Amino acid sequence: MRELEAIETVGVVGAGTMGSGIAQVAATAGHDVVMRDVEASYVEDGLERIEGGLDRAAGDNLTTAEADAARDRVEGVTDLAALSTADIVVEAVVEDMDVKRDVFADLDAVTDDDVVLATNTSTLSITTIAAATDRPELVAGVHFMNPVPVMTGVEVVVGERTAPETVALAHGFAESLGKETWESDDKPGFVSNRILMPWINEGVRALDEGVASKDDIDRGMKLGTNVPMGPLELADHIGLDVCLDATETLHEELGDRYKPAYLLKRKVAAGDLGKKTGRGFYEY
Ligand code: NAD
Repeated sequence: MRELEAIETVGVVGAGTMGSGIAQVAATAGHDVVMRDVEASYVEDGLERIEGGLDRAAGDNLTTAEADAARDRVEGVTDLAALSTADIVVEAVVEDMDVKRDVFADLDAVTDDDVVLATNTSTLSITTIAAATDRPELVAGVHFMNPVPVMTGVEVVVGERTAPETVALAHGFAESLGKETWESDDKPGFVSNRILMPWINEGVRALDEGVASKDDIDRGMKLGTNVPMGPLELADHIGLDVCLDATETLHEELGDRYKPAYLLKRKVAAGDLGKKTGRGFYEY
């Protein structure tokens, strides 16, 4: 297995919200980054997000020269073969098992066979994703939180066949990017979303069932439990479609206690996905 000290180039698959954030923190930590998406316009959008993120970091926790250097270390590509130089890959494509398994089969073919392949999945089985490769012992969950440059926590998820050395490398890699880690077994939702998603879902139900206004639900949870965002505000931030996908996976695997709130389904059906579409429970 490629050792932590040998990791120079980080491959990132998916240039969306999470992929661009992961690319930004890896480049800031001094790595060369190859970030791949399926279309040039998605790659461009991802590079713009990184640009904006580094601009915000410059003068805050980075000097302008450091931010410029980090920007220069990120290469955006659509060509899968460009990932062949990666010493580790983090996948952050859409939360869809078929898409992720195709991506992992491709990564298995183009990367050196001692390279660890990590997935940023929120709820999908690491074991099932890993089974699309001939190196399941080198596959782990490395689950960054949103927004990646701001949130300090990373959840390391251990699949059925993940080797202990891969788990250690996953922790070490996340720590080398300035993050702190915790570990979860490969069970639906892991630690984070198994607990977070029902909290969000119950917030949506409380709104739907007229318990309180959206502002009172969010204020109540913020003031009452000292969290920085209430469930509805946080759902808008994550993306209502992402919340619905995660809740549906948990419902499928764990039964009725995870049944998605009707209002969450209706909002997603209307295309009101939260901050990213300008409207969710709030308007942006
Ligand atoms: P997103 O929709 O913003 O980005 C996904 C990107 O993947 C898109 O740009 C899409 O074009 C690209 N893509 C699709 N198929 C691809 C392929 N075959 N090769 C390369 N790129 C491909 O989604 P996101 O919010 O960044 O989520 C990505 C992953 O991270 C998901 O698994 C999600 O569950 C997980 N996650 C999301 C959050 C969050 O708050 N949004 C938090 C933690 C984890």
